Amino acid sequence: MKPYFVAALLIATAAPAAAQSLPTPTPAPSGKPTYLPTVPAEVAALRDAALKDDYAWDIAEGLSTEIGPRLAGTEAEARARAWAVTKLRSLGFSNVRVERFAMPVWTRGPEAAEILSPFPQRLVVNALGNSASTPPEGITGEVVGFDSVADLRAAPDAVVRGKIVFVTHAMPRTQDGSGYGFFGGPRRQGPSIASRKGAIAIVIRSIGTDYHRNPHTGSMSFEAGVRPIPAGALSIPDAEQLQRILKRGQPMTMHLTLVSSVHPGESGNVIAEVPGSDPKAPILLVGGHLDSWDQGTGAIDDAAGVAITTAAAKRIMDAGRPLRTIRVVWFGSEEPGLFGGMFYKDVYGTQPHYAVAESDFGADRVWKVNSKLGKEREPEARALQAALAPLGIVPGALDEADGSDVGPLIGAGHPGVELSQDGTRYFDIHHTPDDTLDKIDPQQLRQNVAAWTAILAVLSGGIEPEPKRGKRR
Ligand SMILES: [Zn+2]
Repeated sequence: MKPYFVAALLIATAAPAAAQSLPTPTPAPSGKPTYLPTVPAEVAALRDAALKDDYAWDIAEGLSTEIGPRLAGTEAEARARAWAVTKLRSLGFSNVRVERFAMPVWTRGPEAAEILSPFPQRLVVNALGNSASTPPEGITGEVVGFDSVADLRAAPDAVVRGKIVFVTHAMPRTQDGSGYGFFGGPRRQGPSIASRKGAIAIVIRSIGTDYHRNPHTGSMSFEAGVRPIPAGALSIPDAEQLQRILKRGQPMTMHLTLVSSVHPGESGNVIAEVPGSDPKAPILLVGGHLDSWDQGTGAIDDAAGVAITTAAAKRIMDAGRPLRTIRVVWFGSEEPGLFGGMFYKDVYGTQPHYAVAESDFGADRVWKVNSKLGKEREPEARALQAALAPLGIVPGALDEADGSDVGPLIGAGHPGVELSQDGTRYFDIHHTPDDTLDKIDPQQLRQNVAAWTAILAVLSGGIEPEPKRGKRR
């Protein structure tokens, strides 16, 4: 009994001594906290009132119902411009105008894909924008499949020459939509690579994330000097069907019809303004794009974007007169290659802009704000973050912003703001016949309007209430 007691006592007294002799890790660095400024009551009030906004729904519903599909450069897009002018004037905007430009107009004709052997069946396909046309009777060729653009690039020309190329990918759903860049490679680079190697056509797995039997269209362009070939997208179930057949190891023959045409035409940007009290102050530019792909009614892409930004500008207009002019642009012909955005930059790119921003990622809620206003305007960027935080919007980068039509302006050094929307379901619908009004959630649409209203309230330099007008006599 006694020896045991002594040993236990020794252990008990030895333990603290041993711990004291152990090395202690360097304390973890404490993170630098971000303290945001308080939000002025007027800004908070404007933001919160927008959570009950109806203007955005009214615009998105009207444009997607009364115009519907409005492919770039077509008569439908021209009708959409006329609709936009009427709508913007009726909302009370000033200087409403159309700025026209010329462009090549690509339109879709009959399209079909059919496996002739080894297992004859039809597949669901559509042409990618700017695809070359097959003859009306279509073309027939052997299909050679690749798991990635890298595999297609690495293939000897002899494997591809004279064949119809198929390229797949594994684009995932992500909140920030970041899969669209890399996994869009088969659409953006695939056609040029296939053509250089002598392919007669290319079909890709749609750049999308859903399992509906809807192909996703989208634009592509051939590199300079590359012979244009027909380029199409299979719906994802059809792409997987084709892969399963290819895996059986027997030669596959496909008949492919992708008829399309190109003709010279015109498009235009629709511009409207809320004039500022200081006409010399650099303007604030917000907007979205007016054109859409031809198969849906362009509700999320991008009736939502023009609706959200216009509604926000309208809410500021109704509150009074901002110091800076707010310019709303409904860009024309974004989808086939940023024609409206590039034209705006050609016309206005040398004039100062206080900030530029575009909404073009559907209608789901905003979850992050990025900005690129410059180092000296960091307090303003922090004020923006503070005004947005109560909407559940995470403060993001201060040296980064992007947008489709405004991307070239930001690239040229104009200050920019970017609101990231939840893109989890965006690429289920994007560029398909499913892009219709029912995909817009009115509550999330209002959160977007509140966020854009807050941005305009912070950046417009203060809003003076308009003096009450006397009774008309
Ligand atoms: Zn878009």
